[in-house]
Amino acid sequence: MKLATLGLMPLLFACQAHQREQALWTPHSFTPYTTTRGYALADPDCTKEKALTDLGTVSVWVWNTTWPEKVHFNLSGISGALQSRALAGGVIKAVYSRANQAYQEENPGEPLYLCRPGGDYPHDSLENIALGAMVSIKQVFDQLERNPIRALPRVSLFIHPQVTSDDPKEKGVDNAVYFGNKIFIYPHSEEVLQKIYQGIPLWAQLSVVSHEYGHHLLAALAVQNQTGALLNRREMLPIEESFADLVSYYAWGGKTDGIGKLRFGDAIYNRDVATCQCDDGSFKVLNNNYLSSYFASLALLGGAPNPTDCHSLGAIIAFGLEGLIARYDSQLSWDHKFTALLRWGRSMTSRLTVQYAGEEQLLQATGQGVRVIRQSFGTFSELACQHLKTTFPLYYHRWLSLLPECH
Ligand SMILES: [Zn+2]
Repeated sequence: MKLATLGLMPLLFACQAHQREQALWTPHSFTPYTTTRGYALADPDCTKEKALTDLGTVSVWVWNTTWPEKVHFNLSGISGALQSRALAGGVIKAVYSRANQAYQEENPGEPLYLCRPGGDYPHDSLENIALGAMVSIKQVFDQLERNPIRALPRVSLFIHPQVTSDDPKEKGVDNAVYFGNKIFIYPHSEEVLQKIYQGIPLWAQLSVVSHEYGHHLLAALAVQNQTGALLNRREMLPIEESFADLVSYYAWGGKTDGIGKLRFGDAIYNRDVATCQCDDGSFKVLNNNYLSSYFASLALLGGAPNPTDCHSLGAIIAFGLEGLIARYDSQLSWDHKFTALLRWGRSMTSRLTVQYAGEEQLLQATGQGVRVIRQSFGTFSELACQHLKTTFPLYYHRWLSLLPECH
């Protein structure tokens, strides 16, 4: 399956396979991008033979409000050739070719090796970006020790140092993407970086690659349940985004960049799972405006928030489900939450069927999340019922027959 060009407006953590580009709802007008931030290899002399056999404790540059700072992470057991149980092809430094095309076939790139102990690399080097991505993947992968996913395929990580295309449309594609057992990290143009991401590069937000790895987990569960072909339908994209957001949020214990700040591109819309408001001040409510706009349009452009975009809908669903969990009295651990999340992934992918399409499928898959939370943690409190009613006003009455405590 081939991915289409995403258009001038970059997407955060892009959705998958869409063929239409025409914007039916355009939040801003953008001029073509002129400058592109490129990343370089700090240690080109590091070869496979010289690479560290075990990375051990490393310092990785992450963003702290306005400036990058080094934070220590444990990458013991992972070699400087970035071999790990989660990665198949290791980390690949690839040249950017065309937006969301089949990179591996076009440009397989070269492996990236690490020779400097402790992660002694400049903040904008490819090596530092690779280390951050490894930390992000490991953070999720470690959760699977308690909750193994059978036959989970390993992923390859592609880091694109530079945009080489002259096509202004392609220069505007700055993103992190999961597709077909591969995670891609692209550079930012300066304009996008300042306008959309508030100057914080995606690679400095460890939540981002963890989110992409969350897509990988859901895809693997769908394949196990033989419903992989049904996963990437438009009605499932908001579900996939909410699942991936929650994977990252729970794996990091609510501190998705590893230093206590949640950044999910909040310049576009607030992806902080625990925050009840979008950036325009509206509350996260899955209302008719959102749903009808989403299903009426095939555009995939971003916004603030943008009802045509699967990430905005996904942010509401993630907020809605986590809000239910947050209302239990007991001190639920992040591990328990992660376990329930995987349970939702399993149950929703096992129930995907061609009989449900469009909004009905969205309702069914979200309802599975509500059901699994109740099964995992017990009946809902009055506050939880109220939260459900407020966040999902269109679906609430459909679920009510299964929720006697909410009558
Ligand atoms: Zn995503």
